[in-house]
Amino acid sequence: MTRRGVLAAIVLVGLAVTGVAAQRGGGIPPTGTIKKVTDNLYVIPGAGSNTTVFVTANGLVLVDTKLANNGEAILKQIRTVSDRPVSTIINTHTHPDHNGSNDYFKTGGAKVEIVTHENTGKWVAANPKANPAMTPDRTFADRMTLGTGRDRIDLYYFGAGHTNGDAFVVFPALRAMCVGDLMAWNMAPLIDPPTGGSVIALPDTLEKAVKGIQNVDLVIEGHGNVNSWEGFRAYAAFNRELLTVAKAALSRGQTPEQALEELVKNPRLAVFLTEQLLPELEYGGTPRSRALINLNVAFQELKGEPVTTNFGPPRGGGRGAPARGGGPAPAPPATPPPAK
Ligand SMILES: [Zn+2]
Repeated sequence: MTRRGVLAAIVLVGLAVTGVAAQRGGGIPPTGTIKKVTDNLYVIPGAGSNTTVFVTANGLVLVDTKLANNGEAILKQIRTVSDRPVSTIINTHTHPDHNGSNDYFKTGGAKVEIVTHENTGKWVAANPKANPAMTPDRTFADRMTLGTGRDRIDLYYFGAGHTNGDAFVVFPALRAMCVGDLMAWNMAPLIDPPTGGSVIALPDTLEKAVKGIQNVDLVIEGHGNVNSWEGFRAYAAFNRELLTVAKAALSRGQTPEQALEELVKNPRLAVFLTEQLLPELEYGGTPRSRALINLNVAFQELKGEPVTTNFGPPRGGGRGAPARGGGPAPAPPATPPPAK
């Protein structure tokens, strides 16, 4: 991985939210209203990632901080439910729509500990434009526990997926977890190869999480939804099936579009392959068009080619052209790449 590649990815992700939203004429949804997930656990949508707020005896733990310049809006929402100081920020991965407002909470020398997976720490360090407040104070490799009793947080890493630094953040006493952009909007996730993301690795990672994490009922996605454990299991199975179908289609000399037709035949996968644009989705594409993107990425990864299709379909006609009759085409190449 070149430094240029890393930078390009980070810049693209940062620009994309603004660009896509501007093209759609609405601007990015602003920081939204805080919602209670369960006791002591809240989520604030909008302006990039979900921000999860966990109220502990020693202060507030935030999971992800949205795009830059949203700190004040986040704190305003927090203050409607708690007066405690922010003590810890966990960033699920390196993208600037998840750690962009870390700096607001560290201003004035505030003692706020930033925690990430070790690979996320490396990506932040590799980016000279990263804000110093994105730099983790503590990192973990496979597993780490913060706090005790009702305040306990278990961090897990199971391998690459969206990037290669995606943390699972589990609140055992609340039977809840955050999964970052390994799962967002309950659809095929963006894969970011410049930071180690992989469609081939993704199902292994999700299946390890399904096996390795116990006693969770509520799953807070990186953007959009609060899902259920059953929803998470079904999503892991969908990502496995997408890869299995891609392998089979490739071995038969078929195209990603033909692989999509195969996927669509499976009624259990219908929820992940709908053709409606979701409300408040910050970036273009329907669930079905994003599944086609990941089938294209799978083909490239399986062939050992550089991944060039993760932000949209290949340019030009022929085998790589958008599906006909299989659903609306993904966002055109002129659209800035989707970001999560
Ligand atoms: Zn991301």
